Amino acid sequence: MGKDKDARECPYCHKIIRRPYWVHIQKRHPTEYEKNETWIQLYRDYESMGMQKDMCLMVISELFNVSQDDVESYLKKNSVL
Ligand SMILES: [Zn+2]
Repeated sequence: MGKDKDARECPYCHKIIRRPYWVHIQKRHPTEYEKNETWIQLYRDYESMGMQKDMCLMVISELFNVSQDDVESYLKKNSVL
């Protein structure tokens, strides 16, 4: 078990960030943090990297401090899912 198992790459500046991930997004990328539209591009990016739907939803929910249900319903509403 590596101590970096929680390390994740920020999708915007590619810095390695740790839990809670949303703190970094809120502080460093406030414009993206405020806009739900950014979830759409992120979802498409993660999907194109071969990530499973549930994993995409989990990662986005952790980056933006929202529930996976919120992410899922937003993406459905915008015909991404
Ligand atoms: Zn960043």
